[in-house]
Amino acid sequence: LHRRQMSTETESIVDRLKSSGLWRTKGLIGGKWIDAYDGKTIEVNNPASGDVIASVACMGERETKDAISSAYDAFSHWSKLTANDRSNRLRNWYNLLHEHKEALAQLITLEQGKPLKEAIGEVRGCCILKVGYGASFIEFFAEEAKRIYGDVIPATLSDRRLFVIKQPVGVVAAITPWNFPLAMIARKVGPALACGCTVVIKPSELTPLTALAAAELALQSGIPPGVLNVVMGDAPKIGNTLVASPQVRKITFTGSTAVGKKLMAGAAETVKKVSLELGGNAPCIVFDDADLEVAIKGSLATKFRNSGQTCVCANRILVQEGIYEKFTKAFSNAVQDLKVGNGLSEGVAQGPLINEAAVQKVDSFVQDAVSKGAKVLLGGKRHSLGMTFYEPTVIGDVKNEMLIASQEVFGPVAPVLKFKTEEEAIQIANDTNAGLAAYIFTNSIKRSWRVSEALEYGIVGVNEGLVSTEVAPFGGFKQSGLGREGSKYGMDDYLEIKYICMGNMG
Ligand code: NAD
Repeated sequence: LHRRQMSTETESIVDRLKSSGLWRTKGLIGGKWIDAYDGKTIEVNNPASGDVIASVACMGERETKDAISSAYDAFSHWSKLTANDRSNRLRNWYNLLHEHKEALAQLITLEQGKPLKEAIGEVRGCCILKVGYGASFIEFFAEEAKRIYGDVIPATLSDRRLFVIKQPVGVVAAITPWNFPLAMIARKVGPALACGCTVVIKPSELTPLTALAAAELALQSGIPPGVLNVVMGDAPKIGNTLVASPQVRKITFTGSTAVGKKLMAGAAETVKKVSLELGGNAPCIVFDDADLEVAIKGSLATKFRNSGQTCVCANRILVQEGIYEKFTKAFSNAVQDLKVGNGLSEGVAQGPLINEAAVQKVDSFVQDAVSKGAKVLLGGKRHSLGMTFYEPTVIGDVKNEMLIASQEVFGPVAPVLKFKTEEEAIQIANDTNAGLAAYIFTNSIKRSWRVSEALEYGIVGVNEGLVSTEVAPFGGFKQSGLGREGSKYGMDDYLEIKYICMGNMG
């Protein structure tokens, strides 16, 4: 990406953000904002324009070790607070995030590119898009903090009493991607803090500003120094230090499958708990008995949100042969109406991709499909707006073996595949190493249940394209990951189970 100084428009937004007190560019260690020890910085870009919007601390091993130490020291205090006390502080944090939702949303759009309307949804949750993300995780886990119960087990000997209690695992390392700069942090830090753990966050270097702003609000909310630390910069160095440390008891990671596998292998050395939210390859199956309007609306929402840069977004649209022509025509018309532009501009439905490399990858997948016989029904090339924009695209006659269907596209491209029978649709849908989200559109109750059960996926949307919410478990089968986030299940990975046997009780 060509690097430029800020445009006047960007500059005025940055100035407003600076005056809101949320503009942070240093790392957070033990409650103090810290430069990289060697003074190094990295630039953060606005993907829509290429403007350099900030220089942030570029940290490595030494800063990460100090962040781990402060999280370790803070654990002894934070884990002993009452559940009510932790809950109240989390709720204060939620209130502050909510209070600053406009500024946070602007920050997300500025460094990540998504349309402002989506960014507001990411901060607040329960937005126009019905996506219960962002701050709503903090609110949900503030309540869950008060519901961490143990068990009493009926003893096999009359003079014994057997109990199970749950305790926080300790220091957690949270490594997050750029596509949801706030929500991914909230979904990990919310349950970790609720359980009594302390955290070292490593946000993506592409979108660190939102993470730092959220951390600033956490400090203001009464979450004590050291409970939440943020380091960013040299990802492999920071990652290796977090993985190698015996003081870190759990790694929670969202990002690419390749990095997830590395972290999991590294964690074996110190036998850490690991939870992974990795790539998906979501099938979206449209049966010929579906309500076409519902299917188009749902497919559009799951595919094009965040310019297709969402791990649960439809990666393959499977359409039954009887409605294939009708669906592709109506779907392409709907996609054509998506307004492309800078996410800060009014009415924009599709922003830029995160960087030029992402556009190159998307374009190479489209070229590969076309060279193997797929047909461009709409778009299919870079957008005239510039380097990081791609035209909303629909590709027909796609086969499951093509790169565009076997790999995660992570862009505004909808590959459409034709199928004949329900069995064939299930076979194609499951023919992948991924297993995060799947969608089906049908008006048959029997079929929706049968197909939901047959799909090897952690999340299934039936006649609905937007399914994520803080109250339901999020996570994948197969190589899409380990563990679940959100909901009561999202607490399990942050808790140790302890069995206590009390003798001489007769
Ligand atoms: P990525 O794996 O490159 O980066 C994710 C995070 O890992 C970033 O913070 C990055 O700096 C860090 N990282 C990179 N190399 C590292 C290393 N060697 N050690 C430690 N940390 C390292 O992924 P990305 O490009 O930021 O995100 C896109 C991918 O994430 C897609 O594949 C997408 O499907 C996946 N994703 C999954 C979910 C989910 O919930 N399952 C959600 C969002 C994104």
